Amino acid sequence: MAEKTIAAISTPNAVGGISVIRISGPDAIAAADKVFRPVSGKMLQEHKGYTAAYGTVFDGDEPVDDVVATVFRAPKSYTGEDVVEISCHGGLYVTRRVLMALLKNGVLLAGPGEFTKRAFLNGKLSLTEAEAVADLIQAGGEQSLKSARSAMKGSLYHTISSMKDRLLTVSGHIAAFLDYPEEEIDPVESDEIHTVLQDVTGELSGLLSRFDQGKMIREGIETVILGKPNVGKSTLMNLLAGERKSIVTDIPGTTRDVVEGTVMLDGIVLRLADTAGIRETGDVVEQAGVSLALERLETAQLVLAVFDSSSPLSEEDRMLIEKLRDLPVVAVCNKSDLQQQLDIAELRGFFPHLVEISARDHTGVEALSSAVLDLLSLHDAEASSAMLANLRQFSCAQRAFDLLQETLQTLEMGYTLDAIDVALESAISALLELTGERVSDAVVDQVFSHFCVGK
Ligand code: GDP
Repeated sequence: MAEKTIAAISTPNAVGGISVIRISGPDAIAAADKVFRPVSGKMLQEHKGYTAAYGTVFDGDEPVDDVVATVFRAPKSYTGEDVVEISCHGGLYVTRRVLMALLKNGVLLAGPGEFTKRAFLNGKLSLTEAEAVADLIQAGGEQSLKSARSAMKGSLYHTISSMKDRLLTVSGHIAAFLDYPEEEIDPVESDEIHTVLQDVTGELSGLLSRFDQGKMIREGIETVILGKPNVGKSTLMNLLAGERKSIVTDIPGTTRDVVEGTVMLDGIVLRLADTAGIRETGDVVEQAGVSLALERLETAQLVLAVFDSSSPLSEEDRMLIEKLRDLPVVAVCNKSDLQQQLDIAELRGFFPHLVEISARDHTGVEALSSAVLDLLSLHDAEASSAMLANLRQFSCAQRAFDLLQETLQTLEMGYTLDAIDVALESAISALLELTGERVSDAVVDQVFSHFCVGK
């Protein structure tokens, strides 16, 4: 166990009402006592856990700030160690001075994610729960928050643990049967192994297939808005963003760069790029914008193809339709407030996910979000169910899945129980690596290196 006492500023590196400096380790309370003079005269050492004291932090003899110190006693703290959290005034300089006062008294500066790493090493969190803490901090929308909270509460951990337990039961039975022939243990039926393996493989396959959905929920959906000039792309982008991000004019070709914006659609984050209108153009700058727009298509998870419903499909529209074949497209027929000239039925033939909106009058946004969720199968993506949150977890799950598939084949080919048990053990090992119960230091270090200092 780590026996060093560490401290860091746990609130953002920004000015705010209050900032929190967290200290954790065996000397956390003694170290805080060295810099903190309580108004009551009662040292923090004399405080029980979950109590707070008001006083002043000193750097030597110089008062730095009036603060509240909260004491947590091991193991009932975030890290599982003794912890003191000092809430001071939220200025950048004053916060750093409080931290400096502690560092001068033998406390070490915490590394990235070191508090959460200690929580993991002390058994307060599984690795998947610790990873969820990072996701929770990053969450940008309602659905990603739900998903991170669910993982933090252990939904993935419990799902994986249940699979592991079932496999362990089978593996234990095989081992007992093979190792203690004289004990008259019931023979292992291949049906018993088969059922468990099939159940677990099925559940793993579900988790693996929901990975992309989960990623979209957590990280937002890479979205491109495309359409010929003047159909209302910028107006749509501004409507979704709720602010003027793109320039809206009557002159075709005004949007020349890709404008970035993050918008929320029904709790899901869209990472939007409003692009130059797609058309043949002699203008070099505009042409560059058009190329950029087309490049975006290659990585887009969602394309909002905008058409002007007040005019029939033009050559430019048809060119765009051609480019968008087989892509994840929602066709947005804009300007529904004007007399309709567009053949909506024909367009629907190309794009089954089609909505009519008026970006100017703000109508049709609900239909748009519904079409997006439909297209990406996110309608029934339950953000609070267990989901694999990153590539590390994905690759462990994939390995367990492959190994179990192999075991099933081994079983069907009638191999010995020994061979089956070896394959089963490897699969269990992959699941233990996923939850962090059997994981190398290098992997643990890698996971926590992505955290910010102070978490
Ligand atoms: P972009 O070139 O595709 O980005 O198009 P803009 O967003 O710049 O809009 C072009 C013109 O169409 C502007 O004059 C907008 O005010 C107008 N416009 C955009 N959306 C609508 C709409 O829903 N209804 C009507 N009537 N006009 C719109």
